Amino acid sequence: MNNETLLKNLRNVPDFPIKGIQFKDVSTLFKSAECMKIMVDELYEMYKDKGITKVVGIESRGFVVGAALAYRLGAGLVMCRKPGKLPAETKQKTYMKEYGTDTIEIHTDAITEDDVVLLHDDLLATGGSMQAAYELVKDFNPKKTFINFIIELTIEGLNGRAVFPEGTDITTLIRI
Ligand code: AMP
Repeated sequence: MNNETLLKNLRNVPDFPIKGIQFKDVSTLFKSAECMKIMVDELYEMYKDKGITKVVGIESRGFVVGAALAYRLGAGLVMCRKPGKLPAETKQKTYMKEYGTDTIEIHTDAITEDDVVLLHDDLLATGGSMQAAYELVKDFNPKKTFINFIIELTIEGLNGRAVFPEGTDITTLIRI
């Protein structure tokens, strides 16, 4: 689905953080009460019958709608964070980004085999960061794992979906 209000409110910042990147600035969706409502309501409708017990938000833009959605779904929120931010025992993965490399961590007691997990981030570009988070989550052997992004970039030949195993349940609210 492509929500016109979300598309209209999304700011594009050329050459950020480096030359050549067209940065999709979701802060303009977060600051709009109407857009926040659309995003959380649409996601709630999509996932309300899936039995989600944990929403995993990817640092940091994945925390915003991830937390609101976890509340609406009656689920817990788990944070996938940059190295050194989580205080207890963690496991981590390093991955390639559209620009540079990065590492993410999750607490080793964040998820159990009884959980149904929804991974959430603001944007799918190459898929590298979500793939790392997906692998971290799959190591816990949860009952089922879903993936959602607000925005899916398909411009310039990007096909982030291709990095996930066939049959992975991936949804997005806007495709650009
Ligand atoms: P990727 O791992 O390549 O799919 O990149 C997705 C992550 O990087 C998300 O957390 C985004 O916030 C960020 N990101 C990558 N490319 C962009 C872009 N063009 N505009 C906004 N955020 C981006």
